[in-house]
Amino acid sequence: MQSYSEKVKIVRKANFPSRQLVATADLLPGDVILEEQPLLVAPHWECEQMKCSQCMLDSFVMCKKCEFFPLCIDCTNHNSYDCDFFCNTGAGAKISKNLLVENYAIYGVLKLLLLMENPTSGEQCAALSATPGAAVVDSDAWQEREVHIVNPLLQSGIAQAFKQVKVTHELLHTLCWRIDANAFEVAASDGNTLKGVYVCCAQLPHNCVPNTVVTIDEEFHLKLYASVRIRAGDIIYNSYTNPLMGTSQRQHELRLTKGIECTCARCSDPLELGTHMSSLKCQQCATGFVVCTGPIRDGKRSGEWKCTSCGATMDTAMVKELLVDVGEALLETNSELLAYESLLDKYGGRFHQNHFVLVEIKQNIAAILRAILMNPMCVPGQDLLERKLQLCEELMPLVRTVLPGISKLYGIALYEYLLSYMELAELMYEDKEAGNAALIFQEKLENARDIAAKAKEMLRFEPSNSPEGHLVSRIAMEQKRIEENLGQLNSKRNGV
Ligand SMILES: [Zn+2]
Ligand SMILES: [Zn+2]
Ligand SMILES: [Zn+2]
Ligand SMILES: [Zn+2]
Repeated sequence: MQSYSEKVKIVRKANFPSRQLVATADLLPGDVILEEQPLLVAPHWECEQMKCSQCMLDSFVMCKKCEFFPLCIDCTNHNSYDCDFFCNTGAGAKISKNLLVENYAIYGVLKLLLLMENPTSGEQCAALSATPGAAVVDSDAWQEREVHIVNPLLQSGIAQAFKQVKVTHELLHTLCWRIDANAFEVAASDGNTLKGVYVCCAQLPHNCVPNTVVTIDEEFHLKLYASVRIRAGDIIYNSYTNPLMGTSQRQHELRLTKGIECTCARCSDPLELGTHMSSLKCQQCATGFVVCTGPIRDGKRSGEWKCTSCGATMDTAMVKELLVDVGEALLETNSELLAYESLLDKYGGRFHQNHFVLVEIKQNIAAILRAILMNPMCVPGQDLLERKLQLCEELMPLVRTVLPGISKLYGIALYEYLLSYMELAELMYEDKEAGNAALIFQEKLENARDIAAKAKEMLRFEPSNSPEGHLVSRIAMEQKRIEENLGQLNSKRNGV
């Protein structure tokens, strides 16, 4: 199921998190720390398209033996314990053959119950059972599960079919929570995303600035790499939030999905490691930023908002109101480019340029520009390319700070930058054949060569079939384009 590097050891602790992984020797960026196979792979709760119980590709037929589990046309069988359980002589023979088909959301929990009941996999499940099960009763998610998973399972009479596992209302909710809290998004070979439960990797403590990077291939094999140099004695961290969110958003998400109260260096720093991702512009002086310096309690930083330069204070209610305003304005943009740009203009004077709400708007603009640039029917002009480059230049240093070392997100940002950079360089060169245009073009190509190499380095561990892996081959195409251009310039210079 899993194997750890010899350069780490598991340290058990009395309090949460109950275990830590600690380096026993220096680890270099790219060193593999952990390899793990998933305990189970399941569709997202809301997925209605049935998946093959063997390979997790789309299913359109049923297993002929148990008539209970879906299969694809290429797979003829699936896990024999599960199959036997529901066939006519099995413990679950009395359960309706339509239970899963009519309530597909139950798949993950049902599969986990079978794993727990199966003597050959009981031990693997024990690690999952040791993880916290903190489902919040009556939350929206809890209600959804009550209706779509817990009730159908209890009403099916399945509790009586299990001998080892005591199936109760509470257990089913706990299993739902544990599946989510230990899941990573995985992609099947058809590109559809699923949830993979990786107990060892998911139990690594969280840090908003992680020192590792995770990749998962289409066989669902997970590898955890060191993303930066990790020294002997350091704790191995993973991150379970979007690094481009502000502290209050990250804290909220972590509490909801993992039951974690993060106290990492980034969360503890009102300036968020100097990025100012939660800072406002001071309206009293021209240069200062207003930040909240109080301690974090219950996921919220309490205390007053104060300018770092002139000391002017701002009412907490006003800060809240401003954030609600932008949130509402964002909903009214209809995902239109100009609407986002005018929002940036409107709120640019209120927030630090790295504030998470402006970052969100910029990411939306970048996504629209990306779609335009990717459209082969569209020839982007100089303005559009320059805007894209500017956005990348603003976002990239942020990504670098919150995800140092080997980072997928930085690799993707570099790739996007490279595309626009090359387009613009070629466009400008076509326009001006005279003077030192060739020299400038050559300089830009050499620069692009460095960007491409850096982007490839960031994505070098991505499995070739993953979306990031596809980027690597596209970067290779750009590298070819750069070298061809350089070759042509050379030929021209030599008068060939
Ligand atoms: Zn299949
Ligand atoms: Zn079967
Ligand atoms: Zn944190
Ligand atoms: Zn001020």
